Amino acid sequence: MTHLCGLCEQQLEHGHLCPGCTRATTQRLERMPTLWNVLAAFLAPGSSGSPLAGRTRPAEAPLPVRENVLTLRAAGGIAGILEDWRAAMQADRGWGPPAVPVDVGRRVTVAARALAINMDWIASDWPLAGQMAHEIRGLERDVLTIVDPEDPDERRHRYGTRIGYCVAALPDGEVCGAVLRAYPGEATLTCRWCATAYQPKDYLMLRQLQPAAPATHLAPNPGVG
Ligand SMILES: [Zn+2]
Ligand SMILES: [Zn+2]
Repeated sequence: MTHLCGLCEQQLEHGHLCPGCTRATTQRLERMPTLWNVLAAFLAPGSSGSPLAGRTRPAEAPLPVRENVLTLRAAGGIAGILEDWRAAMQADRGWGPPAVPVDVGRRVTVAARALAINMDWIASDWPLAGQMAHEIRGLERDVLTIVDPEDPDERRHRYGTRIGYCVAALPDGEVCGAVLRAYPGEATLTCRWCATAYQPKDYLMLRQLQPAAPATHLAPNPGVG
């Protein structure tokens, strides 16, 4: 029996999502809390610029909020969609229903994380994986069309996708720790800092050696102290 990746439809030997789509979906889930936060800056109509740029116009009367932004930020928006998937996953694994925090922003964080840390099981064992991955991708697109009207695929071509930290040991014995980015169509990941190249056969090793938490001591070291 042949399997197809539920997102990109390439042939798989087993499971429901290919490694690339599993990774992309995990990264989308990890970005969700940030996207939810960033959306707050786009609630007012006409607020299309960077949330960091000064846009206060005190002379103007308060305007109604942008409805699509409000919908995404409401309890049934990003939070509700992620929670529905989390509840469905837990039900299918015979786990109890998840506890839901009160704060909507916290709900986004908790539900996204609960799905992200279960992506291995979702990709290998859950028939709904493809459907979930589609919906998460659509959700990210909805947010990005508001906060970053540039096509997310174009953006990935230019800036790449952040996939982790370089684990190469430098001549001085320090770990490089620079951020590694993947570019569409390029199977080799090349560290821009130390030029170490990672082939697909190195991905597993790379992943296993990632620092468990964002580790400030692994930040790129310019070499002068
Ligand atoms: Zn795929
Ligand atoms: Zn490096």
